[in-house]
Amino acid sequence: MPDVTETRLGVCNICEAICGLEFTLDGDRVTGVRGNPADPLSRGHICPKGVSIGDLHDDPDRLRRPVRRDRVTGEWTEIRWSEALDLVADEIAGAINRHGRDSVGIYLGNPNAHSLGFATHGTAMVKSLRTRNRFSASSVDQIPHQFVASLLFGHQLMIPISDLDRTNFFLVFGANPMASNGSLMTAPDFPQRVRDLKARGGRMVVVDPRRTETARVADEHVFVRPGTDAVVLLAMLHALFEIDGAVRPAAYVDGVERVREAVTDFTPEHAEHISGISADTIRRLTRELAEADGAAAYGRLGLSTQGFGSVCQWAVVCLNALTGNLDREGGVLFTEPAIDFVTTGLIGRGHFDLYRSRVRDAPEYGGELPVSVFAEEIETPGEGQIRAVLTVAGNPVLSTPDGKRLADAFDSLDFMAAVDIYVNETTRHADVILPPTTILERDHYDIVFQGLAVRNTARFTPAVFDKPRGARHDWEIFRDLAARITARLDHQPSRRARLKQRLRLGISPTFAIGMLLRRGGKTTISELRAHPEGIDLGPLRPTLPDRLRTPTKRIDLAQEVILADLDRVRSELAHPTDGLLLIGRRHQRDNNSWMHNVERLTRGRPRHQLLMHPDDLAERGITDGSRVRVASRVGQVEVEVAATDDMMPGVVSLPHGYGHQLPGTRMAGASEVVGVSINDLTDPERLDLSGNAALNGVPVTVDPA
Ligand code: SF4
Repeated sequence: MPDVTETRLGVCNICEAICGLEFTLDGDRVTGVRGNPADPLSRGHICPKGVSIGDLHDDPDRLRRPVRRDRVTGEWTEIRWSEALDLVADEIAGAINRHGRDSVGIYLGNPNAHSLGFATHGTAMVKSLRTRNRFSASSVDQIPHQFVASLLFGHQLMIPISDLDRTNFFLVFGANPMASNGSLMTAPDFPQRVRDLKARGGRMVVVDPRRTETARVADEHVFVRPGTDAVVLLAMLHALFEIDGAVRPAAYVDGVERVREAVTDFTPEHAEHISGISADTIRRLTRELAEADGAAAYGRLGLSTQGFGSVCQWAVVCLNALTGNLDREGGVLFTEPAIDFVTTGLIGRGHFDLYRSRVRDAPEYGGELPVSVFAEEIETPGEGQIRAVLTVAGNPVLSTPDGKRLADAFDSLDFMAAVDIYVNETTRHADVILPPTTILERDHYDIVFQGLAVRNTARFTPAVFDKPRGARHDWEIFRDLAARITARLDHQPSRRARLKQRLRLGISPTFAIGMLLRRGGKTTISELRAHPEGIDLGPLRPTLPDRLRTPTKRIDLAQEVILADLDRVRSELAHPTDGLLLIGRRHQRDNNSWMHNVERLTRGRPRHQLLMHPDDLAERGITDGSRVRVASRVGQVEVEVAATDDMMPGVVSLPHGYGHQLPGTRMAGASEVVGVSINDLTDPERLDLSGNAALNGVPVTVDPA
């Protein structure tokens, strides 16, 4: 146990910003948290969630021992680790032995991307199950980014990162980095980085159906009708080809002429009709992007979670590449982390449509099926039906489309287990929950987000607290589950495969990091241990075409699968939609579907309401603050409405990850922010080409409740 009032350096892994923190400790309690100014990436930044990280550590709602649910009474009872692991292994191996590999469904929540133990051990455990029924939060988030990256650059995580610290024109579609501090663009202290951008004479323009926190500090905000960004981006490409000398791609970029032909009929005038953005504005923004001395177009979750997410992300890359801003200082570049998941092959390149889902014939991406088909794969009888589910750090009942249906489907399973620290809206359906340690009790090296950051840095932080007696790290749970399940299978893997699994899972994450750093040659674990604040490896720099993972070491913009989808854009976005469209939103004090039971984060003004333009309220005779009924094809909810001209007329917004009202969960205490779940309205039938859910632009009606 640390000495009284000791200070230790650590990290926040709650969101992608991965801020370096300094903790003041009193015994085994955190008494103070502040941003670490010596951290070369986060530079002292901290947000309210980071300030609350000690509350998570002490959270009385957090599970610290495995629990088993009595299916009759619903009561949870603590059980021993060995009993819990044996039970989960018996049931999962039993399902495989009786019904085949695909009878096991796996759902991986977003926190796995932030866990070192999952990176080193969780992925191996999941692979060892060899089920096609793998789902994750990625298909309600960023699959279009990964899909486009694998098509154009040859690796799913070769995601171009905006050179925020040097760009002079930052064009943002469907992203709110003032709340997120960057996503697929790790940019801690985004507010200061924007102030710096303005101080050097740069401009930020935000295109969004809501005047977001980022739009408020932008030089210009442009409203766009939800789900229509594709025609705007295609019209920008059209407009770019109209400007003399504006198209100047690098020598290794192919397919330019075919792109020009493909966007011929996507005129700015057509885009104005569909999106609500004037043709003049589209042409002007295109010219500004083309003429800036270093410009970066960036589109994030709002752009990906719509019916044409992949077309949108492709068009963003085309804009950057055709204006000569790809792989250019001040434009967009690729991060070169100390542990390089691209060049080492640590993370696969990504693949699309190698197989399809059983019921709906939906394509996989990167070995995962769209989470929108999860419920039907449990409900529909036949060979390959899911009979047992394992969730890891996820709450898909709140975070995926038609969550209520998924909750009912979970109740029909033969068995369900969860690796999680909470009884939440999803894990309440489990038979067993295995709770791992949390961030302050684990060593941390961020394999994923140091590779997607706006600066090259490396940081390893040893655990702030020792692992409590009787606790298990997530990697130990994954190791033990994989071994126990494998041992119980009727059809044993080969001796070689079992040996490989034992070797891979037998080493600790920290040991693995040491080996990977040595292989990378940029730093060592010893150097990082001596500098827990992190080390600076310099600004992003041009790396193409060497870094490309395409077979030709060239970029072909004219990807058939994307160009073919333009016909769907033509037919589905031929006319403007009538009626109200629903979009989600993110708040700085929330973290997707969790942290709503942290008291200090729930203070302040309520933020669960449906946001709606005053004209839309008046048209329906609804008063500000009253309760309304919001209905979609899938379901309906009742919630308070708040009038605001931050919303584009015709658009309403609910925050995502809300709806902690269910009995039996331990997170229902913070009644101020429970709100309703937007995913009781979102529609699992609405998918992008890549299988990503189209969560935004859902047609809804709003009436007085
Ligand atoms: S922005 Fe906040 S939540 Fe995200 S890593 Fe930093 S302190 Fe943590």
